[in-house]
Amino acid sequence: MIGVNRQGEVWVFAEQHDGRLEDTPIELMSKARGLADALGVKLAAAALTDGVGGLAEKLIQYGADKVYVVEHPLLRTYQTNSYAKVMYDLIHKYEPQIVLYGATVTGRDLAPRIASAAKAGLTADCTDLQIGDHESAKDKQLHKNLLFQVRPAFGGNIIATIINYDRWPQMATVREGVMRMAEPDVNRKGEIIKEKAELSQHDLPLEILAEHKQPRKVNLKAARIIVAGGAGVGGKDNFKLIWDLANCLGAAPAASRAAVDLGFIDHDHQVGQTGTTVRPNLYVAVGISGAIQHQAGMSQSQKIVAINSDPEAPIFQIAHYKVVGDLNVVVPKMIKAVRARSVKQQQAEVTE
Ligand SMILES: Cc1cc2nc3c(=O)[nH]c(=O)nc-3n(C[C@H](O)[C@H](O)[C@H](O)COP(=O)(O)OP(=O)(O)OC[C@H]3O[C@@H](n4cnc5c(N)ncnc54)[C@H](O)[C@@H]3O)c2cc1C
Repeated sequence: MIGVNRQGEVWVFAEQHDGRLEDTPIELMSKARGLADALGVKLAAAALTDGVGGLAEKLIQYGADKVYVVEHPLLRTYQTNSYAKVMYDLIHKYEPQIVLYGATVTGRDLAPRIASAAKAGLTADCTDLQIGDHESAKDKQLHKNLLFQVRPAFGGNIIATIINYDRWPQMATVREGVMRMAEPDVNRKGEIIKEKAELSQHDLPLEILAEHKQPRKVNLKAARIIVAGGAGVGGKDNFKLIWDLANCLGAAPAASRAAVDLGFIDHDHQVGQTGTTVRPNLYVAVGISGAIQHQAGMSQSQKIVAINSDPEAPIFQIAHYKVVGDLNVVVPKMIKAVRARSVKQQQAEVTE
């Protein structure tokens, strides 16, 4: 077990692959910065690598006061046992009070191993984190400055706040894309602490002979405009309307879970609680009712346009522009209007 250290730091696991820092730890860094400031402690990142440079400096630019760097050739590719061993050793040595991981494939695999070794709690898939006080009914004491770990529960129908006051560190995985990335400050200074890893091939049950990486087909998170279709589109053939509107707007095509389940489009395109969380400049929801689980993944879009034949559809509660009508009539008109506009623009450019 790890001791309760009220002066312990706030840590972010700096997930990287091939020396490239993932987006999630950078997103986490801005939230973790706020938590560390609220507690009056340092913010640190833990970077496990095979020696690819530049990670620590980048983490400092995004808000870390310290970066613990562990370099070892056997840390080149993520493997559960080696990473869990090294992270647990670091946590045991420095006793952070909070450790945060992205709810990525790696984070979801690693964090439970460490929670189990440290006999600590772990809240999965948080959408918000705050610092707060709690008077426990169990021991009748006021526990100050705890990590409030907020996440949807019971199929997304309630938002639960989970605390953990007697098992430390307080640990959570955080959904990708829900925290806003801060701007880096290239002049920021921080401390880099190099730690040694005691690792041998015996710590790695798998020997990697070759790696074949499949590039991610869809990057909804990076899209500035998204056109998403729902069950209301009616069929896979008719989903061509969504692709066409997306094409002429230079947007990424996306979908609700119902549309994915009905086979209109691949799961890679799903937005929502069990899909991707997005925050584009423009989100066009076509034939999507706006269930809470869908809204969980898109409600932070800057502008939302909803097209739905039902004026009572919940999506209209969060839409900035509301079109009540049959998508089979509205969407072709939109495509025609956008195309006509871009032809006019091209003609204007030629005559200039
Ligand atoms: C644990 C859990 C996780 C989930 N995760 C997700 C998730 O990640 N993402 C997600 O999207 N959902 C998720 N869901 C499912 C979610 O609850 C809804 O069932 C789903 O979002 C509904 O998709 P939809 O809006 O496309 O379909 P529907 O709810 O069936 O809505 C279709 C809409 O189309 C409209 N419509 C129909 N015909 C037309 C027309 N001709 N013109 C215009 N409008 C029309 C209808 O009025 C209706 O509003 C999850 C559910 C659970 C329990």
